[in-house]
Amino acid sequence: MDPEEPAPTVDANAEPPIPCADCRKALQSNSRDSVFFLLLDQFTLPVVGCRDHLEQFRSICGLTTDGRAQLLSYQPAGGITCPACRRSSHGAGHAMLPVAGGAAMLLGCPDHQSTIAGRYQTGQRTRQQLTDDFDSFRSV
Ligand SMILES: [Zn+2]
Ligand SMILES: [Zn+2]
Repeated sequence: MDPEEPAPTVDANAEPPIPCADCRKALQSNSRDSVFFLLLDQFTLPVVGCRDHLEQFRSICGLTTDGRAQLLSYQPAGGITCPACRRSSHGAGHAMLPVAGGAAMLLGCPDHQSTIAGRYQTGQRTRQQLTDDFDSFRSV
């Protein structure tokens, strides 16, 4: 008989602490009140975080589009068009994206989570380039 395996000490689900207390509160709350809706092009994705950080998140995602990039605190009139996103609830398995000093949690289906996460990363690169250009312009 094998000796019992020691339980792993690292919790795979442990997330690094989020610096922003408002974001932490929103993420811990299971209330629908803490859910915002990100409208980016044709996508509507429920997101959780504090208003400030979601607004930053939205503006960075907005750099990737000439279309709409809006943040609503209520479900938009058309609702969430993707049935899989609509079914996904406030629970495990959601992408958590760091936003300067805070966080944004995406509540959509895995497909749309990764789509929006990709847009956010692209937006961050775009913003970085804009900042670099601005700095080099100023240093001339
Ligand atoms: Zn925050
Ligand atoms: Zn979806």
